[in-house]
Amino acid sequence: MTFSPKKRYSIFSLARNALSYHERWPEAWRSPSPNPAYDVVIIGGGGHGLAAAYYLAKNHGIANVAVIEKGWLGGGNTGRNTTIIRSNYLLEESQVFFEHSLKLWESLSQELNFNVMFSQRGVVNVYHSPQEMEALTRRQNAMRLGGIDAETLTLGELKAMAPSLDCSPQARFPIQGAVIQRRGGVARHDAVAWGYARAADSWGVDIIQNCEVTGIERAGGRVVAVETNRGRIAAGKIGIAVAGHSGQVARLAGLRLPIETHLLQAMVSEPVKPFLSCSLSSGLLHVYVNQSDKGELVIGGQLDGYNSYSQRGNFSTIEQTLAGAVALFPAISRLRLMRAWAGIMDMTMDGSPIMGKTDIGGLYLDGGWCYGGFKATPAAGWCLAHLIANDEPHPAAAPFSLSRFGDGRVISERGVGPKPNAH
Ligand SMILES: Cc1cc2nc3c(=O)[nH]c(=O)nc-3n(C[C@H](O)[C@H](O)[C@H](O)COP(=O)(O)OP(=O)(O)OC[C@H]3O[C@@H](n4cnc5c(N)ncnc54)[C@H](O)[C@@H]3O)c2cc1C
Repeated sequence: MTFSPKKRYSIFSLARNALSYHERWPEAWRSPSPNPAYDVVIIGGGGHGLAAAYYLAKNHGIANVAVIEKGWLGGGNTGRNTTIIRSNYLLEESQVFFEHSLKLWESLSQELNFNVMFSQRGVVNVYHSPQEMEALTRRQNAMRLGGIDAETLTLGELKAMAPSLDCSPQARFPIQGAVIQRRGGVARHDAVAWGYARAADSWGVDIIQNCEVTGIERAGGRVVAVETNRGRIAAGKIGIAVAGHSGQVARLAGLRLPIETHLLQAMVSEPVKPFLSCSLSSGLLHVYVNQSDKGELVIGGQLDGYNSYSQRGNFSTIEQTLAGAVALFPAISRLRLMRAWAGIMDMTMDGSPIMGKTDIGGLYLDGGWCYGGFKATPAAGWCLAHLIANDEPHPAAAPFSLSRFGDGRVISERGVGPKPNAH
């Protein structure tokens, strides 16, 4: 196993490189041609695949690994999401997994020597009715029983935290209160992909971009290779971490997954001065808002509601989302939108991820993250690496096996049944 630490990023390297007009920074990661064979091939160069490769090398000593990405690193949902990080879940299985992830986030910049700009600014859920208050309070109590931070905010506290929020009784949907997870927050999505890529590369992992997996070869009940547009690559084990393409890629190995692919849009306004210091969402209005460090308001809503791989959504969803945002923050009604985009979401039948073995030897799955997989990135990588190295699930991820759908052990936070677009 080769470990060649990259030149560390620090105040001193910044000053040194400033003197040479920033023209001598070393490359962050190599761009090798694929080898004919690897111990492990990970399909998908998003945050999950890159994190898994890094932890395979660092935690398990398996560095003869390739990450195969059909486009560019982070060009999938990793680079398209609204970056909210939280562990405010109702069910114990989800709490354990996402709290493991949140703890890894808290030291990730130091771990990777790469500033992922993790900002624990608090994740606030407002409520507009007694029914919503009961549901949020129940979740808050469950979190506290699980050892996770959660607090109630009175209207006065909420107003102090978000002065532009319309907390008046005249609001279209008057706000009655809120709950907050103060340790929740946001991070810089590209930096997460780049930080893991750089760290994995320094352990000897090959990161191969512009290389699409077009087939998965099997022999004797095991996977033996992937076919790609750059040739065949033999693999002892294969991990699939392709988010919205989970169904397509699993089908290459003859598997049919309980996943539907849907569109989710997000948008940013033009930048403004500091306006909102937390991440704030309203379940009733199907909208959430936070402010990026550049000053843009980052706004997201609900799924477009039909199956698609198109990576572009509809104006009606944008309009509905923005109507909700303006109802919360009337002051933004004249802001201009700069960009809107969509990602393709791997929605499962119970709204929880799938991580585990498949019936095919040496083939492992990380998918079905719905719209919550960015916050999962460190733990998903950690647990996928554990699974591939040991052929056994990590305890934090064990409940999320593919077999749970056959066994009837679904993990449904919303309890809405097998309706992927309703989770
Ligand atoms: C608009 C939007 C908002 C979101 N907001 C949040 C949020 O606030 N918080 C949160 O936690 N989550 C959020 N998510 C969800 C989150 O982005 C994803 O769950 C997460 O990024 C998935 O990461 P990944 O590494 O598994 O997938 P990706 O980043 O999508 O990476 C998968 C990679 O696999 C590659 N690939 C696909 N097929 C092949 C193939 N055949 N061969 C080779 N490579 C292939 C793709 O090109 C892609 O780069 C949001 C998503 C969207 C779209």
